[in-house]
Amino acid sequence: MALITKRVYGAEDVLPKDSYKWQFLEDVMRKEANTHGFKEIRTPVFEHTELFKRGVGDTTDVVQKEMYTFDTKGGTSITLRPEGTAGAARALLEHAIYNDGLPVKAYYFVSCYRYEKKQANRYREFHQYGMEVYGTSSPAADAEIITSAATLFERLGLQNLQLELNSIGCPTCRKEYHKALRAYFEQYKDQLCETCLSRLDRNPMRILDCKSSVCSKIAENAPTVLDYLCDDCKEHFQGVKGYLDACGISYVINPKIVRGLDYYTRTVFEFVTTQLGAQGTVCGGGRYDGLIEEIGGQHTPSLGFALGMERLLALMEAQGIEIPKPSGCDLYIAGLGEQAQKKAFAIIREIRQASLNAEGDIVGRSLRAQMKYADKIGAKFSMVLGDDEITNNKAVLKNMETGDKIDVPLDENFFQGFFSAYVEADQAKLLQKMDM
Ligand code: ATP
Ligand code: MG
Repeated sequence: MALITKRVYGAEDVLPKDSYKWQFLEDVMRKEANTHGFKEIRTPVFEHTELFKRGVGDTTDVVQKEMYTFDTKGGTSITLRPEGTAGAARALLEHAIYNDGLPVKAYYFVSCYRYEKKQANRYREFHQYGMEVYGTSSPAADAEIITSAATLFERLGLQNLQLELNSIGCPTCRKEYHKALRAYFEQYKDQLCETCLSRLDRNPMRILDCKSSVCSKIAENAPTVLDYLCDDCKEHFQGVKGYLDACGISYVINPKIVRGLDYYTRTVFEFVTTQLGAQGTVCGGGRYDGLIEEIGGQHTPSLGFALGMERLLALMEAQGIEIPKPSGCDLYIAGLGEQAQKKAFAIIREIRQASLNAEGDIVGRSLRAQMKYADKIGAKFSMVLGDDEITNNKAVLKNMETGDKIDVPLDENFFQGFFSAYVEADQAKLLQKMDM
């Protein structure tokens, strides 16, 4: 029989055999966010389209070409979130979270939807971990989220992820810079790609981000934003660098980083690698001081980053970093006959209540097939319960790795027997490892 349909183009499944990798990363990220006093925010997967138009920016590729937008039966325009920041900012305002005191520090895990051309490490549904800070313009806040991302990458054992840093100024100094950029790119009008031609008027900085070889070649000699920063923006940028220097975080200044979304001001940064081909940006972020006003709130300087989970996993794989597998089955109990099967079932439940992993037969396999299965799932111990064991009230635990056999009573002392066997086996392993 043929499958009636397959997964939607550009979306991926995470199968049970691989989900531990995602869980591991999420665990490390939650812990890291906790150490910085960030709390999780969860927002809906869809929002009113207007939010992204205003929040992400009408002139961005994301809004112009990449959004999954549809009308509801009631005629409301809804969009699947293409990123996590706009929804978080909307929730902050809607629930007046700022009344609880500023800054608000939140982290999120979101699935995102962008109608993009599928390539290696570029999907139509992908996942981000992100951090958001609302209500501070201090450069210490910029440094805090950057160091948090850097610490996370260190914890995961990643190497050769370069932090690239830039400041794109504020609306005031950017006016002058846009003028200079327009004047520069006007000279090459006949060579720029179509998209960049349309950017020339509305958002010339985005030309610096163009991936076409002709445009990026032209962009090489474009005026640099750092020469146009006003005094306040310069001072802010100095501040961010100072904090990073203070804790020995290395970075390179890259005046070509402008980020894909319109709402950025001042600090922008990316963690990039050369190991993922064209999709080298693992994490990107910066400051968006105008965003909250843009979506209808009071002026609230804010900042954050988003990290692509799929790209992070791909990079870890490329660097041969092994994610620890969760511990497997502690005890497999095979029950033979109705009475023994029930007894096995009850013991399994008790072991599970003690938060250990126990398994038994829920398929109806033969004893041989059950032992094969116990081996396949990597059971540490196995035990067979048949009529004899029930009558004599004792059974034999088998250490599946060494083959050692240990007698255990089947009464209230069973747990004591099982735990001692477990601890002894672990100790023996440890001693062996220590060569003693
Ligand atoms: P890119 O230049 O790769 O298109 P972007 O500027 O559109 O990235 P952001 O909107 O800043 O990306 O998203 C933050 C991170 O999310 C990126 O650095 C990347 O790791 C990840 N990401 C973005 N788009 C995709 C996608 N289509 N598939 C997988 N990951 C993505
Ligand atoms: Mg993009």
